[in-house]
Amino acid sequence: MLTDYHVHLRPDIWDSPAERYFTPANAERYRESAAEKGIAELGVAEHIHRFTQALAIWEHPWWRQWAHDDVDAYCGFVREETDLRLGIEADFVAGREDRIANFLEAREWDYVVGSVHFLQDRAVDMDGEWDLWGRGESPERLWKRYFDTLAEAARSGLYDIMAHPDLVKIWGRRPPQGRPVPEGDPRRYYEPAIEAFADAGVAIEVSTAGLRKPVGRIYPERDMLAMAVEAGVPVALSSDAHKPDQLGFGYDRALEFLAEAGVREICVFEGRERRLEPVG
Ligand SMILES: [Zn+2]
Ligand SMILES: [Zn+2]
Repeated sequence: MLTDYHVHLRPDIWDSPAERYFTPANAERYRESAAEKGIAELGVAEHIHRFTQALAIWEHPWWRQWAHDDVDAYCGFVREETDLRLGIEADFVAGREDRIANFLEAREWDYVVGSVHFLQDRAVDMDGEWDLWGRGESPERLWKRYFDTLAEAARSGLYDIMAHPDLVKIWGRRPPQGRPVPEGDPRRYYEPAIEAFADAGVAIEVSTAGLRKPVGRIYPERDMLAMAVEAGVPVALSSDAHKPDQLGFGYDRALEFLAEAGVREICVFEGRERRLEPVG
């Protein structure tokens, strides 16, 4: 079994209206691309910030710029006009757990992907106005804040899968985009997150999206995955595709990576119930 669950039906660009991308023809393009790559379990997980209802959770100015679509229309489209699993990529916003829960509980998902993109009002993966880096905080401090927030997100009980678990490395070290990275063994940062994943019973995402980013590496690092396996945390496999040809991107490398870590089963979701299937 191969899965791709953390999938977006459209690119993260301004000109990507729902009416152009939430169509049976577009879903069919994804289904065809998945079939070519042997991916049987395919689901979509649109960004929560693209929906107007998300503004009841958080009114960050960047969210306000993006929130144009109706989440119930999205759910209705996926359920009634496609055969895809229905998910959502829902940012963790510390202190807004009740509001996130209200949003999620009002709809029937197959799975909920939890992400940490923002630490307070700045993002780990954004250039420009909302960039977290370059504001005087040490890389040690930023990494600690990132992984502690990821742990808090897992413990919130809101999520089934923790996405791109070491997203904080996204920029890599190489100029021009590289950012400073803490010295020494990074396992001290991973530890609280993995403990939280195990306690909360959430899955860790192995994502090939990092291969398409400046860092050029799978999320998470080998050491973090080894810690998860050791703690009995199940693995969910995704590409974080934003267009059909990105489905299953780098899966040959991901399968090697999983085999080396001793991962033989991956998560399959339906109605927020999880089961394990042999990988491959
Ligand atoms: Zn994400
Ligand atoms: Zn995503």
